[in-house]
Amino acid sequence: MLSEKILKLRHSLAFRLTLWYAGVFTLSSLAAFLVFYFSISTTTLQHTDHDLSNEIAEFSTFLSSRGMRAVKAIITIEAESNGVDKMFIRVLTADGEELASSNMSSWKEIGASKAALKRLAEGAPRVFETIAVPRHRYNVRVAYGAIGPGTIMQIGESLEEDEERMEIVRKIFVVTLAVLMVAAALVGWFMARRALRGVEEVTSTATAIANGALELRVPVKAGGDEIDRLATTFNSMLDRIHALITGMREMTDNIAHDLRSPISRIRGIAEMTLTGGGTLHEYETMAADTIEECDRLLGMINTMLDITEVESGAGRLRMEELDLGGLVREACELFRPVAEDRGITLVSDVPAGCSVRGDVPRLQRMTANLLDNALKYTPSRGTVTVLVRETNDEVVLTVSDTGIGISPGDLPHIFKRFYRCDQSRSQAGTGLGLSLAQAITTAHGGSITVASTSGKGSIFTVSLPRQPRHS
Ligand code: ADP
Repeated sequence: MLSEKILKLRHSLAFRLTLWYAGVFTLSSLAAFLVFYFSISTTTLQHTDHDLSNEIAEFSTFLSSRGMRAVKAIITIEAESNGVDKMFIRVLTADGEELASSNMSSWKEIGASKAALKRLAEGAPRVFETIAVPRHRYNVRVAYGAIGPGTIMQIGESLEEDEERMEIVRKIFVVTLAVLMVAAALVGWFMARRALRGVEEVTSTATAIANGALELRVPVKAGGDEIDRLATTFNSMLDRIHALITGMREMTDNIAHDLRSPISRIRGIAEMTLTGGGTLHEYETMAADTIEECDRLLGMINTMLDITEVESGAGRLRMEELDLGGLVREACELFRPVAEDRGITLVSDVPAGCSVRGDVPRLQRMTANLLDNALKYTPSRGTVTVLVRETNDEVVLTVSDTGIGISPGDLPHIFKRFYRCDQSRSQAGTGLGLSLAQAITTAHGGSITVASTSGKGSIFTVSLPRQPRHS
């Protein structure tokens, strides 16, 4: 159980972020310390070198003013005053032969460096070396310099103080780094948890939704950060899914309700014919009625499938560049005989060459639905007018009629599936024509609107994005 929890923690983003944060923090602190450490150790060594160099310069002046005997005497005093195990001084010939020295009991292992003498002979004013001496805990800094013609001074000083100081610096750093690492891990953990709290909220909402609470939404704060944007996107995705589910539910209800009537009618016809004794004529009528009802049913089912297909994405449309004017004109010609039959004047004003990108059969269907409705819901001696106009970025089709119109109460619902206004129930129809027209226009990136006055007529306006003409 515990190991499972640890495993889960190890795979969590918060844990990995904390590790990164603490790791980067530790590495940067280490780098900063190394820079700091090397700069102070270099500066300290430079100070020591400077002191030793000054010492040699002083002895040089001393030798020229007071002579070698005085120098021999003073080097012993000088080394003793600093501590014979802390410092030594030797006076050498240019070949490295010892002329004088302070108490060398602690420094027996240190001879004259041939390399240093050679460099002095080549003209270097001072030569410095750091030497590790056996049995000595600390290194020794040794300086060479000429104090007179053919006379070299070798002066060595234990780096005890400097190295002890640097050790303290190192210890302080190790302790500080350990404390900082713990603090960095804690701060990192706190920050990661804080940053990921929003993600956790999204996850728990998603879990609750998966368990059926479809109406839940992730709380969005006013900050507008990445998590808020994720929450907003997540919520709008949920809204869309909710709308789709509601739509599907409505569709299922509609199917149950609207397909039941034709099926019941078919059953009724069959039952009546069966129980009525049945002359040949009655059987013929029954067959004709059944075919009519079946056609109606098939028509509804096909239209519903069409709507679903068009709504499920523009990818299913076969888009091509087309002349909407030509398409509308053909539709008008197709409906002209129907208009004449019904005593309706069909006026069309459609210029050629209004170019749009679209799926020809679908746009034909949309135009036909609007024309069919206009003619269906307009009494004889009325007028149906079809116009196509081009604006800067749109091609606009309007189908207006002087028919029965739509009441303000019905107007917001007429694009819904299976919705039919009461005053139009005497006409044949399924209530799906406008839903399909709207689905087709939307899938083409356009829009469809309606303006209507009850008893006076309606105007349907379809706007489609214009296809720029190729030059
Ligand atoms: P229907 O098959 O009933 O015509 P539609 O989806 O095409 O279905 O239209 C939905 C309803 O909108 C119609 O039943 C009708 O009441 C109303 N309607 C559509 N077009 C017109 C119009 N031009 N004039 C008056 N009412 C209309």
